[in-house]
Amino acid sequence: MNLSEQLSVTAKNYPHKSAYIFQGEKTSYLELEGAVTKFASQLKALGYQRGDHIALVAGNSPHYIISLYGALRIGAVIIPVNPMYTPQELSYILNNGDVKAVITMDVLVEKFEAIKDKLPQINHYIVCETTSEMATTEEQSFPGEMKSFTNMVREGSPILDAPELNEEDVALILYTSGTTGTPKGAMLTHKNLYSNAKDTADYLAINGEDLVIAALPMFHVFCLTVALNAPLMNGGTIIILPKFSPTSVFKVAKDHKATIFFGVPTMYNYLLQSSEGHENDFSNIRLCISGGAAMPVTLLKEFEKVFQVIVSEGYGLSEASPVTCFNPLDRQRKPGSIGCNIVNVKNKVVDEFGEEVEVGEVGELICKGPHIMKGYYKMPEETAVALKDGWLYTGDMARMDDEGYFYIVDRKKDMILVGGYNVYPREIEEVLHQHPNVLEAAVIGIPDPNVGEAVVCYVVTNDHSLTEEALIEFCSANLAKYKVPSKIEFLDELPKNTTGKILRKSLRENIANK
Ligand code: AMP
Repeated sequence: MNLSEQLSVTAKNYPHKSAYIFQGEKTSYLELEGAVTKFASQLKALGYQRGDHIALVAGNSPHYIISLYGALRIGAVIIPVNPMYTPQELSYILNNGDVKAVITMDVLVEKFEAIKDKLPQINHYIVCETTSEMATTEEQSFPGEMKSFTNMVREGSPILDAPELNEEDVALILYTSGTTGTPKGAMLTHKNLYSNAKDTADYLAINGEDLVIAALPMFHVFCLTVALNAPLMNGGTIIILPKFSPTSVFKVAKDHKATIFFGVPTMYNYLLQSSEGHENDFSNIRLCISGGAAMPVTLLKEFEKVFQVIVSEGYGLSEASPVTCFNPLDRQRKPGSIGCNIVNVKNKVVDEFGEEVEVGEVGELICKGPHIMKGYYKMPEETAVALKDGWLYTGDMARMDDEGYFYIVDRKKDMILVGGYNVYPREIEEVLHQHPNVLEAAVIGIPDPNVGEAVVCYVVTNDHSLTEEALIEFCSANLAKYKVPSKIEFLDELPKNTTGKILRKSLRENIANK
């Protein structure tokens, strides 16, 4: 069984139930299944087949679900990409990922216009209409042919001769950067995705009565697995929000009597601080799930008190499809903990030799199960570092208590989380290094009450007339908005160890002592 086959089964079991609600409009499982089949048949008619790579560069919308499930049905490999990426960032992933077709939105066509010559291998741009201006986009001169998503779904065949897929076939490639700064494509198979969606749905008891709010970005695996794939397995209803805002969350929670909300800690913070929320807006919510970053205990407790809901924290990473831990629903929840192993998943904390440490001791968190990625796309060396004897080395430092609850202590890697988005220091450093007057650069994240962490850069320059504003402007031209540093400080030299490695720890301590 794979996700797309599972959707056909759900559609048979719950044909008239709403699969999703978008801007107040309900779409039944039968209608979704029909759209997926037609879209898949059109992809096939365009020549796409099992193993072909298709990038999905779009915001939250029904198109996303239809595209994802349609592509999976013909065995194509979907590469979800953040639509906020700059043209340069997009072009890197589309080239590295050997992408043959792009599914995107009319509002993003301009971005592709800027890089179309760097992407000669793209045969088709399938454009989802979010405005009524499609005719103009179809006329644009692209090396790849433009296709209207709406027309494909309208004109597709309701009958599809779907290929037989192997559970070990790659279904999704998720680009995630390590501290090396090189984005790596984590290859997730049909089995990985199916098992993690099923095990998460079972653990959280997501069922046909649930209406889940999908406010997280769909290109992120947290949203994909827990807010899309898991509810679609059991006949749940997804309430699609194009964009997170406290107003929209409170409104849909109340209007549609939503039962589950998934969010990153920053979202909980915004909801709590918003003057628009009332306790009874969440009166039908049975569960709030937090993941993606550490949930501050005070925030969790305050949120539970104000909205009279349960907030359960979990943990995962792209390479694990993503969920490995959740606080249990049938036993004690421990604020500050990421919870226990979910069904079929093993976690343990190990030392630098891969040996399990004593209970309570800190080490690297590693995990094993049917949801662990196949490896990084075209990167055997990086794969060998991350996967050893079937265990995924997460790069997160953790400890486990005597009841099997895990606690994330620190990130081994230096990733910064800005409002739920991953920001990798090295990537920003690379951009800064491109400036002719930057000699050295180091980037760290510092706690920020609004977005979780803010990006701070330390720069050594050869031109003392260079200003913070000018460098921020330079970064803005080369990086997605959320990666742009909020502060740049100039230093005479960067702290380094004897082998020349920059000591980020000292930079963090330096800022903490200020
Ligand atoms: P991604 O691959 O984008 O899903 O990012 C995964 C990383 O997010 C993990 O390796 C952790 O560093 C971090 N993360 C996810 N959930 C949590 C959590 N509950 N607490 C602390 N860090 C988390």
